[in-house]
Amino acid sequence: MQIAVGNKDEEWKNMTTEKCNSCNDSQCSAQQKRSGEREEDFIARQELQSRMCQIKHKILVLSGKGGVGKSTVAVNLAAALAMAGKQVGLLDVDVHGPSVPKLLHLEGTPVSGGANGITPVEVDFQSGKIRVMSIGFLLRGKDDAVIWRGPRKYGLIKQFLKDVDWGSLDYLVIDSPPGTGDEPLAVAELLEKADGAVVVTTPQEVAVQDVRRCIVFCRELNLPVLGIVENMSGYTCPKCSEHVHIFGADGGRIMAEEMGVPYLSGIPIEPEVVKSGDSGIPMVQAHPHSKTATAFGRIVRALLGSELNSGASKDVGAKSGRQTRIAIPVTNGVLSSHFGHCERFVLFDVDSDGKSISQKQEVLPPPHEPGTFPKWLHEQGATIIIAGGMGSRAQSLFNQNDIQVVVGANGGDPDTIVKDFLDGSLETGANVCDH
Ligand code: ADP
Repeated sequence: MQIAVGNKDEEWKNMTTEKCNSCNDSQCSAQQKRSGEREEDFIARQELQSRMCQIKHKILVLSGKGGVGKSTVAVNLAAALAMAGKQVGLLDVDVHGPSVPKLLHLEGTPVSGGANGITPVEVDFQSGKIRVMSIGFLLRGKDDAVIWRGPRKYGLIKQFLKDVDWGSLDYLVIDSPPGTGDEPLAVAELLEKADGAVVVTTPQEVAVQDVRRCIVFCRELNLPVLGIVENMSGYTCPKCSEHVHIFGADGGRIMAEEMGVPYLSGIPIEPEVVKSGDSGIPMVQAHPHSKTATAFGRIVRALLGSELNSGASKDVGAKSGRQTRIAIPVTNGVLSSHFGHCERFVLFDVDSDGKSISQKQEVLPPPHEPGTFPKWLHEQGATIIIAGGMGSRAQSLFNQNDIQVVVGANGGDPDTIVKDFLDGSLETGANVCDH
């Protein structure tokens, strides 16, 4: 076994100096030493929780079996979140077959240490960066055999969570190996408070049975199932447009209903998915108007929607004491594809139930100059803007003004957009910003 990580253990151990003083949460397990816990283990646990405290949402991507597209989903999910303006990390804990370096064209990239731990590899997207860490970066050669037993894997995953300088992130997406083995167990235990798991399956019976086991596994770990993604869900013939269910139809959706977990989306079979994986450019970036990218828009929308109902956006509202007010840039009565040149904004106030519109008004924006709209919309009381495409700088200005950005909406009248947004059915593709 030829693995660079072995040689770096000592070096990396010495790099981390962070103690857990990042919050005053009396409920946090890192505040209290556990009975019988050794001092060094307690300190390590505090360091880990201190890192994790800076990451708002942690999502595991799981599958019952291999080959169903789990890594493809993890990479595109991370990319779609980054393109929606989120700060994203992607951790590949598939010790036996790390695919993330290949899927992002990062094979052979060296990792180094900085003052604050192991520096993740950064990948640039049009609207942001993804910070990536994978066991694949630590292998000396492509064909290194990796034979790890449980405790060694646990130690490595702990190191990835504790010693990597993730910084502050909105989302950490974790690509686990297929099945219900040591790795997802280690991640769920170490994270303590993960948001939950996105479970990937294909429509056919065997994969769906495997995924049932995966859901039971999540339940045993008290890990919420954020939803099912049915990958390879039919193929549309490019010549005759006939839609063929190569691996059966709707297995994932039916199983999700039976198991009482959300169904996030189907993703079709598209040959470009394979090409984009081989070229290292995620499908949502390479083909932002494809059916696959649209499906990821739906998945991200659902995840951001639950964030809206349960976390970050409430924080936005709570900080400012404001109710949810959604701004839609409109030209000729429909969503303006470029918000900076819209005719007007329609502002929708949302009821405290978070589901219905209580009031609506139209406002004319000031003359367009870069950077003026975020501040002005904040003054108008907006807490969310739904746009077609938006560059990273504009997104970060909106975020600085306590306005959450939703990108990738595909046009339509503002009332329908807001209604769909509130009931979680808004169709969004990738963020397409042409400047
Ligand atoms: P897993 O992580 O579950 O083992 P991968 O993400 O590595 O699966 O995908 C397995 C193969 O299937 C890859 O070659 C990938 O490009 C291909 N693939 C995944 N999803 C799709 C899709 N929707 N359409 C076409 N090919 C796909």
